[in-house]
Amino acid sequence: MQAIQIQKNGGPEVLVTINTEKPRPEPGQVLVKLDTCGINYIDTYHRSGLYPVELPAILGLEAAGIVESVGTAVTHFQPGDRVAYPNVPGSYAEYNCIPEERLVPVPDGLSLELAAASMLQGLTGHALTHSTYPVDANSQVLIHAAAGGAGQLLVQLCKMKGARVIGTVSTQAKANIAKQAGADDIIFYNDVDFVAETRRLTDGVGVDVIYDSVGKTTFEPGLSALRPRGTMVLFGNASGAPDPVNPALLMQKGSLFLTRPILFDYIATREELEQRCSDLFGWLENGDISIRIDRTLPLADAATAHRLLESRQTAGKLLLKP
Ligand code: NDP
Repeated sequence: MQAIQIQKNGGPEVLVTINTEKPRPEPGQVLVKLDTCGINYIDTYHRSGLYPVELPAILGLEAAGIVESVGTAVTHFQPGDRVAYPNVPGSYAEYNCIPEERLVPVPDGLSLELAAASMLQGLTGHALTHSTYPVDANSQVLIHAAAGGAGQLLVQLCKMKGARVIGTVSTQAKANIAKQAGADDIIFYNDVDFVAETRRLTDGVGVDVIYDSVGKTTFEPGLSALRPRGTMVLFGNASGAPDPVNPALLMQKGSLFLTRPILFDYIATREELEQRCSDLFGWLENGDISIRIDRTLPLADAATAHRLLESRQTAGKLLLKP
């Protein structure tokens, strides 16, 4: 089968196409013929070495496809089933073996493209808005990179709960996309002081929660855009990892809460994975939320996808077709 592998850490050029043996499912595993693989920013961290992985490695953590065969002791899936999964390595490939407990069935009414696209970013949006900081109709929320893959989903999920959403973006085109997702106010954070603008938009109070996937350039200033006892949800590093923070700063800025969540801790049990997927798939089928597919590329163009993502040229989901 064809797959995209890295043999060393580096830029997008280290992503190489290989031909390797089709994997065989071990006991408890399901062999899936992948229809669509999702690209996530975390894949670029695995590639660069910011988040170390054992080498050589086939990148990619999410996909959707059709069950080809099952290993012994698999009880819930059979050949022909439509399935998807988050957080299993080896997804930039034609086939992948998935532990049964990490696989979810895809409802008939949902395309495999959307199922793949909703895994990491959608489940993250669900976890951050329902569990990390449960947003409600009284919440005022600041979402950085609001036209990004995770950003657009966060905007929609916060609006579903009736919150007021302020989104930051870099360009007018991205502002239009964030508005379409439901953002009430837009701040061009490259051009204006987003802290002053957030305080102005909230009558000097500050927001209840910040969802920050940008990191280095936004994290520390963001602490000044929160209301007293507000919550900083730092969940990514698109501009680089922020500098370490002295806990006393949280006191000085108004008894703030700081959390640095990662999705995997929010889908650690089968129950949580199923519950969040069931909500997400239902909302997608009903049209309560949508996922903007920025581009779909052939598997062999994974390096192009990484370049586009890292140079801020995307607004939404990037997919690969094996
Ligand atoms: P995005 O689609 O959001 O792409 C990144 C966006 O960040 C860019 O489009 C850009 O938007 C903005 N950005 C700001 N500064 C920079 C910079 N210097 N370089 C590149 N981009 C910049 O990506 P994802 O939705 O896939 O992921 C966003 C972040 O969230 C990543 O760090 C990812 O790892 C993290 N994440 C974390 C999860 C978790 O479990 N903790 C799960 C999912 C994602 P603009 O042009 O508008 O500034």
